[in-house]
Amino acid sequence: MSVGSKVAIKLERVTAGYLTAARGWRSLRRRLEVVLNNVSLEVYNGERVVIIGESGSGKSTLLRVVLGLLKPLRGRVVVLGKEVYSLPWSERVRVLRAVGYVPQDPYKALNPSLKIRYSLMEPLEALGIGDPEGRMARVLRLVQLSEEVMNYYPTDLSGGMRQRVLIARAVIHDPEILVLDEPTSALDVSIQAQIINLINDLYEKLNLTVLVVTHDLGVAQYLADRAVILYKGEIVEEGFFEDVLHSPRNNYTKLLIKSYRASI
Ligand code: ADP
Ligand code: MG
Repeated sequence: MSVGSKVAIKLERVTAGYLTAARGWRSLRRRLEVVLNNVSLEVYNGERVVIIGESGSGKSTLLRVVLGLLKPLRGRVVVLGKEVYSLPWSERVRVLRAVGYVPQDPYKALNPSLKIRYSLMEPLEALGIGDPEGRMARVLRLVQLSEEVMNYYPTDLSGGMRQRVLIARAVIHDPEILVLDEPTSALDVSIQAQIINLINDLYEKLNLTVLVVTHDLGVAQYLADRAVILYKGEIVEEGFFEDVLHSPRNNYTKLLIKSYRASI
């Protein structure tokens, strides 16, 4: 797919964090923990961008900011031309409808007491989109699951199948942007390749813009047009994946690549 010149997602000098309870159970004071520091990032239409960072570097937080779930302390977040956090709630929902989200852990992300059918319907109901039966059938074909899966509970499914369900749920409402949080980290190595292929297949078929976060360079290699290296809440390097891999400039990136090469 060709990469457009329009920006799908833009973060401008975003600083974000959490208010956490200060140490000591008697204390009512709260402490501000800054997790993302002055992060600027642009994802163009039709591009696949992978953010690579170790555990705790702020990857999930960054996605929360993009998804309209965590208001930054400073900076701007623009999705498809709209500044997310300055919109009234109803308008924010309309913009974010164009985004599909696959959360981090397929073993935790599905409600265990709901048949898959109802998990798939959730986004359609929330967004008031009709023809659930038609959409479910179509999306299950896309992720290569049989329609029988609709009648199963999450525990009836393998990790790989659950991840397919979560990907189906993320694209069932025809988003323009697909955001995935560590899409393969909970899966066996043999299944990881299948899920990577599926993501790339949907990227082509559905004309998506894809934003992935991962700690795994090996996974990033197959999913990234562009790589962004996040280290302790700051972007320390970015560029075309091959360029970053072959001529990293930042010391942390060099270390990351060295340990990756040693592992393969
Ligand atoms: P990653 O996804 O890269 O592992 P996260 O964005 O989940 O990193 O977390 C970054 C930092 O923010 C960690 O130190 C984590 O403890 C902290 N953090 C994440 N979520 C919360 C939260 N809901 N409340 C307080 N601190 C949080
Ligand atoms: Mg995370």
